[in-house]
Amino acid sequence: MYNINKDLANIFKKMAAIYEFLDDRFRAMAYQRAAHIIEDLPDDVRNYILTGKLYSIKGIGPSIASKIEEYVNTGKIQKYEELKKKVPEDFIELVDLPGFGPKTLKRIHDELGISTKEELIKALKDGRIEQLPGFGPKKVENMLKGLQMYELSKRRILLWEALEISRYLVDKLKKNLKEIKDIEVVGSVRRRKETIGDLDILVIAEDKDRTKIMDYFTSLPEISQILVKGPKKSSVVMKFEGKERQVDLRIFRKDEWGAALQYFTGSKQHNVHLREIAKEKGLKINEYGVYKADTEEKIAGETEESVYNAVGMDWIPPELREDRGEIEAALQHKLPELVELKDIKGDMHVHSTWSDGVNEIKDIAEFVKKRYGYEYIVITDHSKSQRVARGLDEERILKEIEEVKILNKMMGWDFIKIGTEVDILLDGSLDFPDEILSKLDWVVASVHSHFNRDNTDRIIKAMENPYVNVIGHPTGRLIGLREAYPVDMDAVIKKAKETGTALEINAQPRRLDINDIWIRKAVEEGVKLVISTDSHNLGNFAFMEIGVAQARRGWATKKDILNTKSWKEIQKFVEDKRKRLGGVLQKR
Ligand SMILES: [Zn+2]
Ligand SMILES: [Zn+2]
Repeated sequence: MYNINKDLANIFKKMAAIYEFLDDRFRAMAYQRAAHIIEDLPDDVRNYILTGKLYSIKGIGPSIASKIEEYVNTGKIQKYEELKKKVPEDFIELVDLPGFGPKTLKRIHDELGISTKEELIKALKDGRIEQLPGFGPKKVENMLKGLQMYELSKRRILLWEALEISRYLVDKLKKNLKEIKDIEVVGSVRRRKETIGDLDILVIAEDKDRTKIMDYFTSLPEISQILVKGPKKSSVVMKFEGKERQVDLRIFRKDEWGAALQYFTGSKQHNVHLREIAKEKGLKINEYGVYKADTEEKIAGETEESVYNAVGMDWIPPELREDRGEIEAALQHKLPELVELKDIKGDMHVHSTWSDGVNEIKDIAEFVKKRYGYEYIVITDHSKSQRVARGLDEERILKEIEEVKILNKMMGWDFIKIGTEVDILLDGSLDFPDEILSKLDWVVASVHSHFNRDNTDRIIKAMENPYVNVIGHPTGRLIGLREAYPVDMDAVIKKAKETGTALEINAQPRRLDINDIWIRKAVEEGVKLVISTDSHNLGNFAFMEIGVAQARRGWATKKDILNTKSWKEIQKFVEDKRKRLGGVLQKR
């Protein structure tokens, strides 16, 4: 089901910003809090309404609860519509960007009389904003950069969002149209690229059913504009979570299905290369099939395998179709056997209420064991430098270790492992002494500060510590919000290999860090990787799926990924590094 909680959280964040703009601190805080609570709810708000529990959600007052009901029933919140009229329209759009925020925008509005995005960009460029007290060239530069990234991200959405929308549409079409024999979302969604432009859906149906399918598709309630409506192809613009997306639906016959899937999955470069090879073999490929060039005789097309096989290659997993050597490998029958979601045995980067997570360790453990059937999870709360995230000091982490021992005893086996996400400090030292780190099962070390400097030296130094097992989100990028900090990843990969440290593939939709290119490089160098969700609430564990997809895009096999292994093997990885770099082994 498509996630209405996120829509509501976004609206409440905007309302909070407007109240802040209007100097109503109290309401601003109440809405801000409500937004966070709704974002972290384990279940759809509609289910809370159905079970009569909406009004008992902690932290949500009756006035906000009634607005949730109003939104579920009418698709609108009257109060929000009224509030929007009290602030410049463009500001509502800009208020979530880093470096902007209601206070900044209010000052620019009050002191320079600016109320549109166009005027704002002009004032950023001509120096008027720079001259305001407390601004200066650095801040202005960051604001301009933020705006630029925002404009880019408006055109593309995150893979996770695209998958949610895709699944919602596929379910709806399948459920309501028995005429659809098969359905698949193709394009960059199927290749699991980290960001997605338009959505392309293909279906199989008989010719006589085309009109009915297109009539239904072009009357979906999310549609804001119909671009083309035809019997074989329709294009519409749909609105999800405030963002407009173009969605195309194409209908094919059963005997064309494989060729159509292959053609519309792309990438463009992959298809160009494939067609060149087909041509050399006297064949012709289009979206309906594979044909002999001279006689036009159709020789394949019903399945994707048949299309690739006809050209003399193995079927290529969609995640690899970027023309980065996969075609050559498929011709030589040497494609890697990519890691799969079912290979994952545990999640090794998880936050609980001990720092900035929403759930207690016990609830996390029970949920994960039941839902995912993992063999272990590692709780890795923040260390003390992360004050906003309620990072742990030495005394509290020792208490957390004790709590985990008790919980494991209650559960009857050592399901929960205790670790930390320790901050890498400015000089590359760590936020916990070795004395503490040596007591832990697993140590994630991450950079959370000083994003403007070259951070290679800090990360290298952290890897030299015998107790650091993996570098968390190694490049620090946030897709669409913040670029990676300067870091020499070749040097990091080399050091990881030398010290026996793993690198993380952080599965948070905005991170997917490291990216496919670096994953492939790490795999080639024999560096181990860990796919982690960095979960802060129970819903986040589902991100493992896109972490695995990112690993597949980087040609990673099961053996490259540490958390496909048993805990015994992971312990050996930890102990090997400690032995090699002179650390003490854990007493258990
Ligand atoms: Zn982190
Ligand atoms: Zn984390």
